[in-house]
Amino acid sequence: MKYDYLVVGAGLFGAVFAHEAKKAGKNCLVIDKREHIGGNVYTEDVEGIQVHKYGAHIFHTSDKKIWDYVNQFAEFNNYINSPVAVYGDELYNLPFNMNTFSKMWGIKTPDEAKEIIAKQIAELNIDEPANLEEQALKLVGRDVYEKLIKGYTQKQWGRECTELPAFIIKRLPLRFTYDNNYFNDRYQGIPVDGYTAMVEKMLEGTEVRLSTDYFDVKDEIEADKVIYTGMIDSYYDYKLGVLEYRSVRFETEKLDCENYQGNAVVNYTAADVPYTRIIEHKHFNFGKQPVTVISREYSSEWKKGDEPYYPVNNDRNNDLYEQYKKLAESEGKVIFGGRLGQYKYYDMDKVIAAALDMCKEQLG
Ligand code: FAD
Ligand code: UDP
Repeated sequence: MKYDYLVVGAGLFGAVFAHEAKKAGKNCLVIDKREHIGGNVYTEDVEGIQVHKYGAHIFHTSDKKIWDYVNQFAEFNNYINSPVAVYGDELYNLPFNMNTFSKMWGIKTPDEAKEIIAKQIAELNIDEPANLEEQALKLVGRDVYEKLIKGYTQKQWGRECTELPAFIIKRLPLRFTYDNNYFNDRYQGIPVDGYTAMVEKMLEGTEVRLSTDYFDVKDEIEADKVIYTGMIDSYYDYKLGVLEYRSVRFETEKLDCENYQGNAVVNYTAADVPYTRIIEHKHFNFGKQPVTVISREYSSEWKKGDEPYYPVNNDRNNDLYEQYKKLAESEGKVIFGGRLGQYKYYDMDKVIAAALDMCKEQLG
């Protein structure tokens, strides 16, 4: 059997590509080395609770086309992400907004908050922020940086904030209103039946083989083209060097209580707490089950054999990726996509947009 496309990876990138290829009349085989579809957005049903097995996933986008696209495959609820941060015995709302500032400094108005931040920034003399620390200090001043950013970021990335790129912190909104919505995007929600059901729908009618590693079967499967969404450096057997990733270990427990922490996401921002956050999965779907499931997230440096989660997009790795990309561009048959294939800190909406762009190039 010869396929038009062999899609390596049943995550969002691979599933969107396979869906569109099928619609265009192409014959596709999707393989994944894991025993399930969905990649990192995979959710598992535990007593009616959708457990986000590889970390909390909240869908958010400002792109109406992408919102309409995903709504073909799933009904989304109206969940709005509003994490809280615990620092010692203090509790703050995120993202950085008037609730955070009011709690931090005992003030009420935007002008008061702006004045305190401006004063703290003026003392620092930062012109063009060269790294995450400078960017964060320049945005919110020293108090917020010390309590809510420094410890969390160093745990999450295993690196000093001075060694990290500024863009990472720019992901978080900063606003002078009492608004705890973690995202600025127009559209947001969680699939009512979980992400796995959504990806299942994308892959309806497409042949999928699970527990199948590309490197074990590549000589047996005949296909005109390969869409590869695994790690680009692993594809080349790390011959130019190893790209760095952060991995995450999830310690997941079912608890015999109805409501453990009162919120889906609670961040622990102090350096002396070993985990970065605790997720209570039922709150993503407003669950009323008598039990609950929580996951503590421990961040670690990726090593061969671990699951890669976050590309570490600093200069060293970006330069190395560019070299791999050059090799990739000279491939006739294999095309690289997704968070691992393009070594990019993509959110779900951006991965879907990138997959649809690739579909346009490939399928017309
Ligand atoms: P993946 O989901 O990683 O899929 C790649 C697939 O390829 C995997 O299933 C893997 O098993 C398979 N594969 C790899 N190598 C091989 C091989 N050799 N053979 C066969 N199969 C292989 N985005 C948001 O928009 N909102 C969020 O709240 C959010 N939270 C996140 C939280 C965490 C902890 C992480 C890590 C990411 C989060 N993201 C979030 C980003 C989101 O997970 C990604 O944008 C998306 O899942 C990327 O899809 P992908 O298909 O590129 O990669
Ligand atoms: N961050 C922080 N404190 C927090 C939450 C986030 O300092 O309580 C920083 C941290 O550097 C993190 C970045 O903001 O890597 C982006 O956070 P986001 O929640 O977007 O990370 P992700 O969803 O990718 O885990």
